[in-house]
Amino acid sequence: MRHLPELFANNRAWAAGRVAEDPAYFRRLCGLQAPRYLWIGCADSRVPANQIVGLEPGELFVHRNVGNVFDPADANAMSVLQYAVEALDVAHVIVCGHYECGGVQAAFGGALKPPLEGWIDYFRRVREAHRRELDALPGHEERWRRLCELNVAAQVASVCRTDVVTSMWARGKRLTVHGWIYDLTDGLLRDLDLSTDGSGSRGSGGA
Ligand SMILES: [Zn+2]
Repeated sequence: MRHLPELFANNRAWAAGRVAEDPAYFRRLCGLQAPRYLWIGCADSRVPANQIVGLEPGELFVHRNVGNVFDPADANAMSVLQYAVEALDVAHVIVCGHYECGGVQAAFGGALKPPLEGWIDYFRRVREAHRRELDALPGHEERWRRLCELNVAAQVASVCRTDVVTSMWARGKRLTVHGWIYDLTDGLLRDLDLSTDGSGSRGSGGA
């Protein structure tokens, strides 16, 4: 192994550990992918999707990018959503942001080099749409935290407007979209109470 041997060593140890616990582990995992959840989260290395919700390989379908953006014009994100909902039949789509998100913070700063500048525009637009509320907060820390939450809400709304989701709802399919935020300081998730299943009601969204 010429490059990054430590990662290959970690991998061998991990695979051996799994097999030691359960000799059929990989055979079973190959046979079926049936996650109940799609996770749309930030690429931030401190927010590892499976680990923070205690799910194993095979249990969470994951899409991550800077600032947990969901744009229906993004073929990458849309393909993930379509495959998760139509082929894998997930019951829950979770948009999870996090406090202290560097991507979201960039919305408060100056212009960056493309293509990142174009991406940060997602957060600038959310900031602009809520400028009055954000400006009323006492300091930058509070505004940054709130923008992280508002960004989750914007992305949840964006997921809910897609044909993939609305057509499932029109057919009476059970699919709930959730908005959560993760706190790096204590490792805890908070439900932003944005869950919707297309029936017009908000709340827990069921099991
Ligand atoms: Zn982030």
